Amino acid sequence: ADRVLGFIGLGQMGSRMAARLLEAGHPVVVFDRAPGPLAELVAKGATAAASPREVADRADLVFGSLPTPAILRDVALGPDGVLAGQRARCFVDLSTTGPRVAGEVAAAFTEAGRSTFDCPVSGGKGGAAAGTLALMVSGPRAEYDSLEPVLRVFGKPFYCGEKPGQAQVMKLCNNLLAATALAASSEALAMGVKAGLDPNLMCEVINASSGRNSATQDKFPRAVIPRTFDFGFTTGLSLKDVRLCLEEAEAMGVPMPVGNATRQMLAITAALHGLDSDFTSIAKTVENWAGV
Ligand code: NAD
Repeated sequence: ADRVLGFIGLGQMGSRMAARLLEAGHPVVVFDRAPGPLAELVAKGATAAASPREVADRADLVFGSLPTPAILRDVALGPDGVLAGQRARCFVDLSTTGPRVAGEVAAAFTEAGRSTFDCPVSGGKGGAAAGTLALMVSGPRAEYDSLEPVLRVFGKPFYCGEKPGQAQVMKLCNNLLAATALAASSEALAMGVKAGLDPNLMCEVINASSGRNSATQDKFPRAVIPRTFDFGFTTGLSLKDVRLCLEEAEAMGVPMPVGNATRQMLAITAALHGLDSDFTSIAKTVENWAGV
């Protein structure tokens, strides 16, 4: 019989990843605290549960895609959480929640004779829909082989090691870099536009030159220059990622002055445009300062 899969957190990323599991023919039990996303997945063939615990009562393997470390901890370990469920042997956290909570969750599950993987992803909602995400995975090597085929439904997995949280560190390094590239590109583009250059031409030239990065190749052409600001990743989530990264770096004794500047850019953008604004709104912050 096919393994029953569970999926908790049906937001920008989770809704699309859960839909791919259904399209691949897996039975999927879903939960989200918001009724709208839950109903959408049920319309696509999923079964709704009333809590994370009920998901884990009905599924063998449970995925989570949740906004913050505190919510992830509650969904995994809380009184109505996955660990309280009777059936699930394994929990896979697809969110970006940092190495601390990954360690806590892994310890509690291991103690109960179950397993966890931290498996943060990169590639945005487009990658989630297309199944082209990069997945960074850490957890027990012996169980990884049975997990990997399911992960391939979401994209390309990279095994990062047994130690819980290693994949989270990998992901925080990536997201620090992505946010920093966006902030720095916003400054460069604001200057060029103020001087009279066409932003499309600027991206074309930069992308054929040494300044190319994920903002000039993707975020500017797709969400900033068309003024849609709908890349699909919020300022609040990016601020959470950079904060988690800097906390961890500080604890490790790794100075990050540039990363701290990126954090301030996100904090200012959150104050001006809201935590729920798309993080490409950093470009608006810089344009306002530059008077373009
Ligand atoms: P989102 O806010 O769109 O989705 C989160 C979902 O979790 C929402 O549907 C919300 O209702 C649900 N939720 C919140 N609390 C809950 C609870 N207690 N129980 C059940 N459901 C709950 O976020 P997202 O953009 O889909 O991101 C999810 C995770 O993936 C985050 O950790 C984010 O950092 C990471 N991520 C996002 C992107 C992206 O481009 N959006 C890319 C890579 C990684």
